[in-house]
Amino acid sequence: MNEINSDFHALTFDVEDWYQGFLYRGIGGWEKYGSREEKNVQKILDILDTHNTKATFFVLGSFAEANPEIVQLIHKKGHEIASHGHSHVHVPKLTPKDFREDIKRSKNFLEDITNEKIIGYRAASWSINKDSYWGLEILAEENFIYDSSIFPSSFHPFGSNYFNRFPHQINLLNNKKIYEFPAQVLSIGKIKFPAAGGFYLRALPYIFSKYAIKQSAKKNFPAMVYLHPYDLDPDVPKLKTKFTFRIIRYYNLNKTEVYLKMLLKNFTFSSIKEIIEKKSSNKLIEK
Ligand SMILES: [Zn+2]
Repeated sequence: MNEINSDFHALTFDVEDWYQGFLYRGIGGWEKYGSREEKNVQKILDILDTHNTKATFFVLGSFAEANPEIVQLIHKKGHEIASHGHSHVHVPKLTPKDFREDIKRSKNFLEDITNEKIIGYRAASWSINKDSYWGLEILAEENFIYDSSIFPSSFHPFGSNYFNRFPHQINLLNNKKIYEFPAQVLSIGKIKFPAAGGFYLRALPYIFSKYAIKQSAKKNFPAMVYLHPYDLDPDVPKLKTKFTFRIIRYYNLNKTEVYLKMLLKNFTFSSIKEIIEKKSSNKLIEK
């Protein structure tokens, strides 16, 4: 396994509409509110401009097909466009054949509207695990250079403590290779806690995520920060759903923007594509 070192940490956004997450599956009531992501994406682009930072945007294919101009706007700003699949179905629920169709459809569409090769993929809900590891082989066969779909913590529904917590290159059974950029965790003893992304970033004290990133930096690995545009939308319509889902979806939404700006002040970020292109063994730059 080859290790990846970088001068930058990875800053990533999963772009889908606020009602496209799995927590809303089977729940009605969102239709009357419509899309809110143009405003949310613009907010992110402005923050990144202010901090002179580039990021990776994993765009859901069905969202891209409905909103090609938003994807083109992100791309024009110089950010990396990557694939979040087409349909947002968890990988273990797909057959290998359906998975291949899903990633090809999103890759082809995103390449058409950006006129650039799409090299990265992130599964819905970080859902590549031991039951869907074959997905990595299919990604490599379809010319993806990297994946970012593995959660190395057993606290996450699809995750496991046994996964390597740092970015690395995997030699696959089909004789191909792929880079894996796992979700960020905070390691305490043998336990790995989710950190620095989505619900975990906004719900836990900031120091938790900051310390997790420092743990990666100390070992000279890029850390991984991930958010959704709707994580920065405190005014998102609050639909009636299970109590636990409401906590995950709505808790501390007003903290995300504050914490993101603190991260951008404290650390140096870039897109995953740039991290791969500029792999180096230099120490990470710390502000
Ligand atoms: Zn998603």
